[in-house]
Amino acid sequence: MQNTGVSLATLSDHGPPRVPRGALLDSVKAVTATQLGPMVSSIDQEGVYPESVIRSLGEAGAFASHLHGVATGHPDLESAIRAMSKVSEYCLSTSFCTWCQDALGWYIYTSENASVQETLGAAVAGGQQLGGTGLSNPMKSLFGIEKMRLKAKRVPGGYTVKGGLPWVSNLGENHVFGGIFELEDDPSHRIMAIIDCAQPGVKLTVNDNFVALEGTRTFSIGIRDAFIPDEMVLADPIDTYIPRIRAGFILLQSGMAFGLIRNCIALMNQVRGSLGHVNKHLERQPTDFEENLALMEAEVFELCRTPFDTDPEYFRRVVEARLRAGEEAVQSAHYAMLHQGARGYVSHGAAQRRLREAYFVAIVTPATKQLRKMLADMNH
Ligand SMILES: Cc1cc2nc3c(=O)[nH]c(=O)nc-3n(C[C@H](O)[C@H](O)[C@H](O)COP(=O)(O)OP(=O)(O)OC[C@H]3O[C@@H](n4cnc5c(N)ncnc54)[C@H](O)[C@@H]3O)c2cc1C
Repeated sequence: MQNTGVSLATLSDHGPPRVPRGALLDSVKAVTATQLGPMVSSIDQEGVYPESVIRSLGEAGAFASHLHGVATGHPDLESAIRAMSKVSEYCLSTSFCTWCQDALGWYIYTSENASVQETLGAAVAGGQQLGGTGLSNPMKSLFGIEKMRLKAKRVPGGYTVKGGLPWVSNLGENHVFGGIFELEDDPSHRIMAIIDCAQPGVKLTVNDNFVALEGTRTFSIGIRDAFIPDEMVLADPIDTYIPRIRAGFILLQSGMAFGLIRNCIALMNQVRGSLGHVNKHLERQPTDFEENLALMEAEVFELCRTPFDTDPEYFRRVVEARLRAGEEAVQSAHYAMLHQGARGYVSHGAAQRRLREAYFVAIVTPATKQLRKMLADMNH
């Protein structure tokens, strides 16, 4: 077997902590308050990658609760979302890295590849192995928006893959990510596998600066005849696997939105004493956002109970919930800015940062426009 860079044997000693359900949020809160809070400005302004925070979140159990068979014995997406939302109250870069880590674990534990679960999967769940997900392009491709960017050839013991992905986050030299490629000679045959950033044929480059989310270590990926061994394959073909991962992929993103909205409500309340006499004339008030947030959380947490449901009506509710999360994130940040006024508009003001960050929730795959297309397609 050719070297992929990832040594399954050396990772097998790692694993997620066994955190009782109730203790997870307290542990995550401790990490965010003591470690993340003081770093938020450098993450946003200097693009610092919060690696130490992400590792501590792993130790706290933040990346494990949604993985069946790991923490609580069943996939508890609600706890994972609540933990991610605590991170998002402070910083969307770190919260998105949390989602990347959560999604990677979700792919691994939803697959039937038991050896990757016991080795790489356990290390992802515990935050010892960091990584992400390159599924924007396939998720758009599967819904008829763009062509698949990664192509493969079958070779003895695995596949050779080539192509490029414009953005994949939470990466680094020793990181891995989940990717999907199609066979060159049979494009309807698609395979999902773990790709190792350190392996020959995989190149990471920085191609742009973003208005926010600079702390997410987002790279452009170039792949040139990289060998993906069968041991790293999660689903081949992906046809019945995608319906099993797609709801979890989407629902978990709610954590980014819920925490950001909660922080925006806090920013509105923060200036009530000094500016309430005039802010009360704004069309939307903190209580409006609180009510909507409670409704959104109730719907998402109910959907979280059955993430493998393949009923089209269930999936429609998932898509609608995700659409609301993106739109309400942008609205809450917009109103946080209007309530805060000039103190939110200074370069270190929280409101302007939250506004820049909020748009990411609405443009990360599945973006608002994709969600609207999916709903339109469901009606035909
Ligand atoms: C900070 C950040 C982190 C991201 N992390 C990930 C990740 O971890 N994994 C992942 O799979 N995706 C990631 N993405 C991609 C993201 O999920 C969306 O796919 C992306 O924001 C565009 O989605 P869209 O549906 O709005 O497509 P659109 O922006 O409408 O269209 C996307 C297409 O437009 C073209 N395009 C876009 N920008 C440019 C440009 N500057 N120059 C030339 N052509 C361009 C490309 O062909 C691209 O495929 C990230 C994006 C950002 C901004």
